[in-house]
Parts: sequence; structure tokens; C-alpha cells
Amino acid sequence: MAAIATELAQYQMYIDGKWTDALSGETFESDNPFTAQPWAVIPRAGAADVDRAVQAAYRAFTQGAWPRLSPTQRGALLRKLGDLLTEHAQHLGEIEVRDNGKLLAEMGAQTAYLPQWYYYYGGLADKIEGAVIPLDKAGNFNYTRWEPLGVVGAIVPWNSPLLILTWKLAPALAAGNTVVVKPSEFTSASTLEFMKVFEQVGFPPGVVNVVTGYGAEVGAPLVEHPQVAKIAFTGSDKTGEKIYEAAARGLKHVTMELGGKSPNIVFDDADLDNAVKGAISGIFAATGQTCIAGSRLLVQETIHDAFVDKLTTFARTAKMGDPMRLETQVGPVTTVPQYHKVLDYIETAKGEGARVVLGGGKATRPECGNGWFVEPTIFTGVHNGMRIAQEEVFGPVLSVIPFKDEDDAVAIGNDVVYGLAAGVWTQSIRRALSMAERLQAGTIWVNTYRAVSFLSPFGGYKRSGLGRENGQEMMKEYMQVKSVWLSTASEVPNPFILR
Ligand code: NAD
Repeated sequence: MAAIATELAQYQMYIDGKWTDALSGETFESDNPFTAQPWAVIPRAGAADVDRAVQAAYRAFTQGAWPRLSPTQRGALLRKLGDLLTEHAQHLGEIEVRDNGKLLAEMGAQTAYLPQWYYYYGGLADKIEGAVIPLDKAGNFNYTRWEPLGVVGAIVPWNSPLLILTWKLAPALAAGNTVVVKPSEFTSASTLEFMKVFEQVGFPPGVVNVVTGYGAEVGAPLVEHPQVAKIAFTGSDKTGEKIYEAAARGLKHVTMELGGKSPNIVFDDADLDNAVKGAISGIFAATGQTCIAGSRLLVQETIHDAFVDKLTTFARTAKMGDPMRLETQVGPVTTVPQYHKVLDYIETAKGEGARVVLGGGKATRPECGNGWFVEPTIFTGVHNGMRIAQEEVFGPVLSVIPFKDEDDAVAIGNDVVYGLAAGVWTQSIRRALSMAERLQAGTIWVNTYRAVSFLSPFGGYKRSGLGRENGQEMMKEYMQVKSVWLSTASEVPNPFILR
């Protein structure tokens, strides 16, 4: 059990509408990646805590006020949550910066954008309509109803805690489910702060519960709990595989948002100044700790050297340091294991024969203090068979890979196990449309990168995931359809044959 220093922020979990410690009384510390010091104490829950959270969620789903609310009333609650989040956006953003090391410059905008999900799905709550089916069987009336699934387990990673939580929570609640959230053990604080806002809205107890702790101690029992109907997971494909297997044993619904190794492809007809910015936003924004990182930069041979020069010159100016300062452009790596993983990948790439043209190790600039900083790193001389080109680094490490023509770019771009996103930089409409069709990825950005919206579906091909988040269709990822038959016949016919 971690020692509790008085100056550390003390958090509790939220179960059945009440703040609570873990039943064991155990806790763990959460670190600030910029100071490399603990700043908060979080309950270390176990299977018994998961059970009480799931029981509370199940009760809330089956009894009391929640199942009796109309979809319109559910929508109103979600819109009220959106309003309250707008009021608290700045505070939530600052907590995320302290706990995660994300830039305040980015979090200010991101937390201010979160309410849009609650407005959008709040609006959709009463627009999911069933159908009257014109049956081929006389004397029958048939209609469909879309119903919620039950208790949803939402398992969230550390890299964008509030955004990813919101992508699950807003549609799950709009559809009428109840939710047990398991945040990452590295970044639980912003979710617990979020719940302080959530509890002001007036949702019935048990509709949303948060259980904090480690994957094996909280995540696994949540997936295995018989009263959980669906797991909505975002994280690595390695963990996703384990969760998928465990969920399969319980025949549960799943959506999986997993890792990526996305190609960001620059053709020689592109606006090169914009393409440089696109490459930077693909890999150095959020310190490269995003699932959609454009970590493979494919550059057409004809402009390779000139483009790498231009990119390196721009990247060299990136300001590192305190993520709370608005001028900072590259913050620390969020966790100690991730910091070592990124540094190990840099050494692996060097060992594979890739050439460092920028960075290539720990950042020791004075403005980085004791934080877990890695220099923005660019490798050339990479070919797509190298580990650095195939495996997700999840850090500010870019591999530049040359290509000849469109066919070559498509072949290299698709030659990975992942398929989350791809970027294409070109001024040719024909080329843009053709590449958008041929690249195997759930999101294609043309002449832009790292753009998302509540309105547009997001998710992965191949090992990058199953199902989608955002957009209208994905409400149905949290629902199931029921077919209702009414006979208008005055007499039941022969009961021994299928009707
Ligand atoms: P992770 O897979 O290690 O952990 C994710 C969550 O799963 C954490 O809350 C963790 O505690 C929990 N967990 C771990 N083992 C578990 C188990 N056996 N059963 C149930 N839960 C378990 O991922 P991470 O390191 O937190 O996040 C980084 C990864 O997330 C990267 O691979 C990244 O690409 C991916 N990601 C994907 C998206 C997307 O939308 N596709 C978005 C963000 C991050």
C-alpha cells in the first residue's frame, strides 16, 4: 500500500451514487509526469468492489427511476450534463494536464468540446425509431423496438481519459444503459473529478459508477462479471485480445478501439508547408501518445531529402517543457513504463540501421526538469519490415519511409497489422479519392490530420478494432433490436407447424 502524504490530493471512487474507498482500504499513487512526483492518492479496488458497482448498475438498469425515464427525459439529463461540463471545462482540463502531462493548450479546447457529445447523443436519445414490418404473413402485425443492452463496462486507457470516456458514456446513456467505468490506473483523477460534475445533474444512483485500480484487479473481473452485457474497450491490441477472449466466454457484446501504425503519405504534388505541419501534428502532437499517430511518414522519393530537411527544421523548433504553459508544444511522456518503452524503441531502431536525423533519446533540456521527456525523434533509412515501422511506439518517434508511386504507397501503407487511420497529402482530387478508397483504415484524412468529431464515425480496420464510436449509427452498438408479433386472427391455427 502506498504511503499517504498529507499534501497529496485524496480521491474516492463513485459507486451507487456515493463516494467510497476500496473495501480493502488499499490505495495507490498517481504521478505528475512533469514533476515525476506523486500528486494524488486513488483507491485500489478489487473484484469485490467491481461486484458492488455492477450490482448497483444492474439495479439501476432494472429498477427505480432510470428504466422508467422516457428517452426524451434521458436526453434532457445528458444535455444538462453538457451544460455543467462547459462550466467546469477549464478545471477538468487542468486536472488532465497534471495527471497525464497533456498540454493545457490542447486540453483547454478538448474539455470545452466534450459537451458536444452529450448534446448530440442527448438529442439522438429519442430519435432511434423501430419499424413496422410489412409482413408476408396475413393476419399478423409486426414491429421492432430498439432497447438498451444492460450494464456496460467502459474500460479506458491513459492517453485521453476524458475524451475516450465521453465517447462511450454519452451514447451508452442515451441508449438507456447503465455503466461501470474503469479508468486507467495511470490517469484516474480526471474521471473522478468528472463524476463530481456528473453527480450534480440528478441521474438516479447506480446509473454511472467508477471503479479505480489495475487491469488484472478491476478490468478483468469487470469483463468477466455475469451481469455485464457489453464491454466498450479502448486500449492496446494486446489487452484487447485478452478482453475479447474473456468477453467471448460470457457471450458479451464488445466494441474495441485499439492501436495503430498509421501511414501519413506525402506526394510530390502536395503543398509541402502544409504537409510538414501535417507530419508534425501526426507524430509530435500529444507527444505521439495517440492511437492515430501518423508514425510512418511515407514520402515520395522525388522530394524525400528536401522534405525531410524542411520537416526537421520545423520540428527542431518545437518548445518542450511544462505542459501547463500555453506556449509548450511537446509535453512529457505520461507514464514511467511508457517512457522506457519509447526509449527502448529508439535503441531498437538504431540497432536495425535506421538513421537519426533529429532527437534520438531522453530530453535533458533545463525546461524539462525531472519530467519524463523524450526528444522529438525522426528516423530516416527505415524500411517497412523493421520493427520501428511495424510496432506501435506510442511516443514522439517518426519513421520516414520513401515510396515510388501510388501503388507503392498503397502497398507500404497497408502492409501493417493495424488500420486505424491514414493521411494523404496531395493537390490532385483524383489521387485523393483513389487513395481514400485503397487505404485500409477506418479514417482517411486528406490534406489534414488528427481531426475528430462527434458527428463522424471513428474506429479501426484489422487489428485496430471492432465497431465504431461517434456518429449516429454507433448508438446501435449500445442497443439491441426486438421483434414483436401480434396476431389479428380470431383462432390459433394448427399449432404443430411453423407459422
Ligand atoms: P492498455 O491496453 O494497457 O490499458 C487500457 C485499459 O485496459 C486500462 O484501463 C487497463 O488498466 C485495462 N486493462 C489492462 N489489462 C486488462 C485486463 N486483463 N482486463 C481488463 N482490463 C485491462 O492500454 P494503455 O497503455 O492504457 O493505452 C494505450 C493504448 O491504447 C495504445 O495501444 C493506443 O493505441 C490505444 N488507444 C486506442 C484508441 C482508439 O480509439 N483506437 C484511442 C486511444 C488509445
